[in-house]
Amino acid sequence: MSISFPAKLTERLAAAESVCVLTGSGVSAESGVPTFRDAQTGLWAKFEPEALATMEAFQRNPSMIWDWYEWRRKLVRQAKPNAAHYALANMESLFPRFSLITQNVDGLHQAAGSQKMIEFHGNIMRTICADEGCVIEDYDASQSPPPCPRCAAYLRPDVVWFGEAIDQGSLDKAIALADECDVFFAIGTSAQVQPAAGLAEVAMQAGACVVEINPQRTVLSKRANFALHGAAGEVLPLLIETLTPALSRN
Ligand code: NAD
Repeated sequence: MSISFPAKLTERLAAAESVCVLTGSGVSAESGVPTFRDAQTGLWAKFEPEALATMEAFQRNPSMIWDWYEWRRKLVRQAKPNAAHYALANMESLFPRFSLITQNVDGLHQAAGSQKMIEFHGNIMRTICADEGCVIEDYDASQSPPPCPRCAAYLRPDVVWFGEAIDQGSLDKAIALADECDVFFAIGTSAQVQPAAGLAEVAMQAGACVVEINPQRTVLSKRANFALHGAAGEVLPLLIETLTPALSRN
């Protein structure tokens, strides 16, 4: 694949003091973890994720929702970080200030070596008590869902479901990072899930250069300063390769 990046973009990046990146499930698509909006195959194809990833769905049918997460956890356990995850981990050392906010719950950024990051929507591999919210590590995995060993309420995955609030500390931090960056990237996200989607708006209002990387057009494409249409695992390594000579001169 060959992409030529606009000179204005590489100049802006080479001069950037602070870069903030928001990633969505598209970044993990090349690792075999399906995005929500891609057609899913098999057992779960007939369900809308919005109808499964909610507290109402869990209350209605706890066993079905637990089993859906078990299926997704199995996919995540088998998945390995791809070139996009590694490129983002490398970007930490390329700019004076760099931050990564991910909507992904799969832990693949950390597996690739990213350290400065916010897991906006939690982590699917962590389990919490549905009543008290405390993290539970030992439980009877033969039950669906397992009961909390402390209070017997159901256990659930530590992810933010549709309609649930983001942890206030993470939200405040993410808004501050979007507000102070010179360049904001939205990568592999359909830019439809709030409040994550609003971070690009915060960056835009503050005068940052907004760059989208996505093979498809999204609601953000028209408003972004640069919309790079391609897979994150192809575009990001090429972008870093193009930038490295300019960044090492700084
Ligand atoms: P989304 O499903 O709404 O959108 C995914 C976007 O990724 C689409 O715009 C698609 O065109 C794009 N895409 C597909 N392949 C790509 C690639 N190779 N490179 C770059 N972009 C690619 O996902 P979202 O915006 O992240 O929001 C949905 C919610 O789903 C989030 O809250 C997230 O927590 C959750 N989710 C997470 C995972 C995960 O952790 N891997 C997986 C599914 C859903």
